[in-house]
Amino acid sequence: MARTEIEGIFYELHVPERSPGAVFLRIDASRCIGCDTCQRYCPADAITGSSGKPHAIAFPAACIGCGQCLVHCPESAVFEERSWLAEVVGELNARRRLCVAMPSPSVRYTLGEAFGMPPGSVTTGRLRAALLMLGFSHCWDVEFAADAAACAMGRELLRRMRVPGAPPLFTSSCPAWVKYCETFHPDLLPCLSLCPPPEALCAAMAKTLCAERMGRAAKDIWAVLIAPCAAHKQYPLLRGGDPAAGMDAVLDARELAWLIKKAGIDLAHVPEQGPDPVMGGSSGAATLFSAPGGAAEAILRFAAAEQSGSSAATPDFVPLRGMADVREASFSLGAKEVRAAVVNGAKHFPAMLGKIRSNMSRYQLVEFTACPGGCLCGGGQPVMPAAKSLFDDGDSPFFPS
Ligand code: SF4
Ligand code: SF4
Repeated sequence: MARTEIEGIFYELHVPERSPGAVFLRIDASRCIGCDTCQRYCPADAITGSSGKPHAIAFPAACIGCGQCLVHCPESAVFEERSWLAEVVGELNARRRLCVAMPSPSVRYTLGEAFGMPPGSVTTGRLRAALLMLGFSHCWDVEFAADAAACAMGRELLRRMRVPGAPPLFTSSCPAWVKYCETFHPDLLPCLSLCPPPEALCAAMAKTLCAERMGRAAKDIWAVLIAPCAAHKQYPLLRGGDPAAGMDAVLDARELAWLIKKAGIDLAHVPEQGPDPVMGGSSGAATLFSAPGGAAEAILRFAAAEQSGSSAATPDFVPLRGMADVREASFSLGAKEVRAAVVNGAKHFPAMLGKIRSNMSRYQLVEFTACPGGCLCGGGQPVMPAAKSLFDDGDSPFFPS
């Protein structure tokens, strides 16, 4: 099938089959120079190939969809083989249902880079305006669901802490981490939070809470997630054939940037749009989900407020912030101590899981993010040429030092 270049990355524009297990990333052998960079970044050993020869994602069942191979490939040889772009455009034009866009927390901080804005530009209001200009009838923000997820996981943490020697609570907000745990450590699945990731929760809310508020049936709402990575593209495939359940389509940030540019919209100069009252606003804790340690901090903030009975003096859990590979710290929650850890990058999952296995009550809360830098550095975000030139290719014979 013909490929389309979207923000420097190639895509095959055919809609994923509605079946679980579909592969989303592949390597184009004709573009691959065999530099081994993707193999070095792959945390799942899913890629094979000898130096100087075309490589392949030979073990798709092991692939966790993190997209680290794609963002680090210097030849744009790794491509996304499925895309809902054509289907989204068709739905927006047909106007049969309410097309709802659900932007993930991190996308508002990265989208501006595709439009020449400085890295880190906050585009929340402009993103909402652009989505409405594209023809979406509503923008229901995943940050609202991230707040709800922090509350649910905070309550789960407090419940577990009442049980002496209970195993730790693992966050469930990174779909690549969840796939990693399912594939490589299924015996640890009971540690995973029962709360769905904010993106899946937002889709469920769109088709229940918001549908009810709008006086519409769930089947009249077509929910499109704007995601930071390809791992989120599994969600519409997991719901079976039920159009009233979950999200209907997923675009990553690059695909959305392409769509906005195609429509002639200059993101940097559109007037800002406020939040949609149907879904409601969100707190600062919700936006923390974009960065490593953010989910753990949001959970602990809620748990602290719940313990004290007041959110007035909720502390920040600053030691969990930053870009270190692993961070850990202890905090007081009422009379109890909670030891929390944050793992920033799937390459560090095995060491942390080994540590946990050696003492299951060492931590009470562990956040896992597959991409170093969290969702802000997800495999579906705009890839800046300047950032690519900084990637570590120093030990490869294919690049001059
Ligand atoms: S990083 Fe790209 S060019 Fe290098 S081996 Fe992997 S797919 Fe091929
Ligand atoms: S998406 Fe991630 S896990 Fe899959 S092949 Fe690429 S780097 Fe490996």
